[in-house]
Amino acid sequence: MKYYSTNRQAPVATLEEAVVKGLAADKGLFMPEAIKSLPQEFYGSIEQLSFQEIAYHVADAFFGEDVPAETLKQIVYDTLSFDVPLVRVKDAIYSLELFHGPTLAFKDVGGRFMARLLGHFIRKEGKKQVNVLVATSGDTGSAVANGFLGVEGIHVYVLYPKGKVSEIQEKQFTTLGRNITALEVDGTFDDCQALVKSAFMDKELNEHLQLTSANSINVARFLPQAFYYFYAYAQLKKIGKAENAVFCVPSGNFGNITAGLFGKKMGLPVKRFIAANNKNDIFYQYLLTGLYNPRPSVATIANAMDVGDPSNFARVLDLYDASHAAISSDISGTTYTDEQIRETVKKTYQETRYLLDPHGACGYRALEENLQPGEIGVFLETAHPAKFLDTVESIIGEEVEIPVKLQAFMKGEKKSLPMTKEFADFKQYLLSL
Ligand SMILES: *Cc1c(COP(=O)(O)O)cnc(C)c1O
Repeated sequence: MKYYSTNRQAPVATLEEAVVKGLAADKGLFMPEAIKSLPQEFYGSIEQLSFQEIAYHVADAFFGEDVPAETLKQIVYDTLSFDVPLVRVKDAIYSLELFHGPTLAFKDVGGRFMARLLGHFIRKEGKKQVNVLVATSGDTGSAVANGFLGVEGIHVYVLYPKGKVSEIQEKQFTTLGRNITALEVDGTFDDCQALVKSAFMDKELNEHLQLTSANSINVARFLPQAFYYFYAYAQLKKIGKAENAVFCVPSGNFGNITAGLFGKKMGLPVKRFIAANNKNDIFYQYLLTGLYNPRPSVATIANAMDVGDPSNFARVLDLYDASHAAISSDISGTTYTDEQIRETVKKTYQETRYLLDPHGACGYRALEENLQPGEIGVFLETAHPAKFLDTVESIIGEEVEIPVKLQAFMKGEKKSLPMTKEFADFKQYLLSL
């Protein structure tokens, strides 16, 4: 399979090139040249397959031409060593719990898959070390770092803003050691992101080191997120609720929802999608006006969705030939304030005992307000509520139990390197490696 750039000013790339480079030379995002439909028989008996079996079918459609079947199967099965259960919350609203992976965030799926696929390419080619740079405001860093931990030939540098990530999040990427280095930047998340971007553009650095990104712009992190939409559908079908399924996705950079849109293109019978935004509602405004106006992000309590210029919007446009009408007929949007998010976490907990995290709360509320009679709604619960401990505890006025997996991280010892926000310092450091 070849991959083209959404900007169409760069040569097409192989899967390997797309994964190793991350971003196309013209700064566009890579898109597969074909999106294969899966056969009717697959959908006809999907409810009898396991999560791993379903995911392998989907992975084969994307990557089967470029990765040997046994290797791909191994990568898929190793990645999905945890379940993604569908839990009924109320009436026709279901939570797809994506937080049962090692770092309790949905990014575990893409992070683990990408690490294994990149590892495969490095082994195959006998390549020199690949260095993954990732800027994080919390969740991406932990999922990527844990996904890549111990993968030979790859070193991960996590850049995070000093004092601006929660203690739990910080522990998840500063206690690992081995091929993971945490850089504690004296600055904001935007400063971290700027350092990473400058590094990718710096000619001298790129001659010296093989650098790549593990954000959702990378096809190897982005496409595997389609897996769980198929599995959710299978679970709905099993209970006779698969007709008129609506997926609602708490969205920031729009990687997660775009993977679902790919699923629909492959024939997955989804009626429609809802993109739930917090106050950073650039996409919602686009749906209303047809105009895409990126703006600086504002901080909210659903901070993984604080994105002012969603990178995967380029992929959404590309999928629908930039037709606002076509996009609006498949996707609707919502926007919520912190106050509304708090209210939703509290009310849902009181009424159903289901504890939402602030991101999932946006998804749940969007379904509550928008689901039509006869529709079944599935929102993606993108993180475990304990990852946002202080926020959630202050909302419900009760202590939240910390899962064993998170407690294990808390016991580790933090190790990080201090870094200024000056690119010259960061570059110097990378050159000295
Ligand atoms: C990353 C993240 C999101 C946003 O996902 P996108 O793919 O960037 O739209 C939502 N919720 C949580 C908890 C996240 O970590």
